[in-house]
Amino acid sequence: MKPKDICILKQRLSIPQKIAIVIHYNPDGDAIGSALALKMFFQQNGHQVEILSPNDFPSYLSWMPQSEEIHIATKDLNSCRRFIEQANMIFCLDFNAFNRVGLLEPLLSEAKTFKVLIDHHIDPMPYFDIFYSDSTNTSSTCELIYHFIAEKMDGFCYITKSMAECLYVGIITDTGSLSYSCNNPSTYSVVSALVAHKIDCEQIHRLVYDTFSESRIRLLGYCLSQRLHIKEEYATSFIFLTKKDLQDFHYQQGDTEGIVNYGLSIKTIRFTAFFTERDDRIRISFRSKGNFDVNSFARKHFNGGGHKNASGGNSYEDMPTTIAKFETLLTQYQQELLAPWD
Ligand code: 5GP
Ligand code: MN
Repeated sequence: MKPKDICILKQRLSIPQKIAIVIHYNPDGDAIGSALALKMFFQQNGHQVEILSPNDFPSYLSWMPQSEEIHIATKDLNSCRRFIEQANMIFCLDFNAFNRVGLLEPLLSEAKTFKVLIDHHIDPMPYFDIFYSDSTNTSSTCELIYHFIAEKMDGFCYITKSMAECLYVGIITDTGSLSYSCNNPSTYSVVSALVAHKIDCEQIHRLVYDTFSESRIRLLGYCLSQRLHIKEEYATSFIFLTKKDLQDFHYQQGDTEGIVNYGLSIKTIRFTAFFTERDDRIRISFRSKGNFDVNSFARKHFNGGGHKNASGGNSYEDMPTTIAKFETLLTQYQQELLAPWD
């Protein structure tokens, strides 16, 4: 973040502001955690703050402090519109393009309001007034929010135990509990600072990961036994789920979270995709190991993006056509996928 931008922000925030914090569609632990912590910081400093989410968040995050105050656009678009219209600052967290915010997209793109981006995805769009964006050395938006509050805004003394819990959730959920996107001493320094607030890490892990319903764990079993396809000649695997599968397993939002990673846990597999059929599209998650860049793969072929080793995209064709397209694309990447790596 440029020193000039820090100055501009400090100046603006020295008087009470009406702040809207916007997060991405299908918000995850990082989106919810970063938004809640930032809201608590701003509130302590006399600002009026509302968090706006395009759609509901998964139930494994509903224990998070103040999560019940998040406004959900699919449930109450009018309130969201009002908060965006009234805001004199908008903070966009954990996404970097307006097409990631569902129903809020037209409201956000029309708003002339001063916009601040805090995010860790590659290639942010240019339409923000201030950028705090780091996609190379940062585990999560929550890690950036810690630096933003503690260092950029000189607000270390405002970090409470509740804020530390929220930031910890974002770091563990975006790094698979510190197993990827975390080869960086700074991530551990931030975790150390959060743990120093006496948060109960073991309890947080239980609350986030050990709250599966029976049907969710059976859905995982079904994916692995019936729907995992291995394309050994491309070091690739994929899993797909139809709408009927989701109905059969009483799908609730969040139930497919993390399933994509199983495709990559096979030793010989370097690239994996997870296709789920929604009402209007096929939603796709991509993951990779090593140098295979799934951000550019998703951008180029499936209207998506994300990070080098974790990205997402969409297809507006049916499942068989989408999978056929994916399989055909693999032939173009065979050399890259089979190249030796550490
Ligand atoms: P997931 O597969 O967990 O939904 O997403 C993996 C990563 O890619 C996340 O960091 C997410 O923000 C990003 N991502 C997912 N879908 C999209 C998309 O459609 N566009 C872009 N630009 N990023 C995405
Ligand atoms: Mn994130």
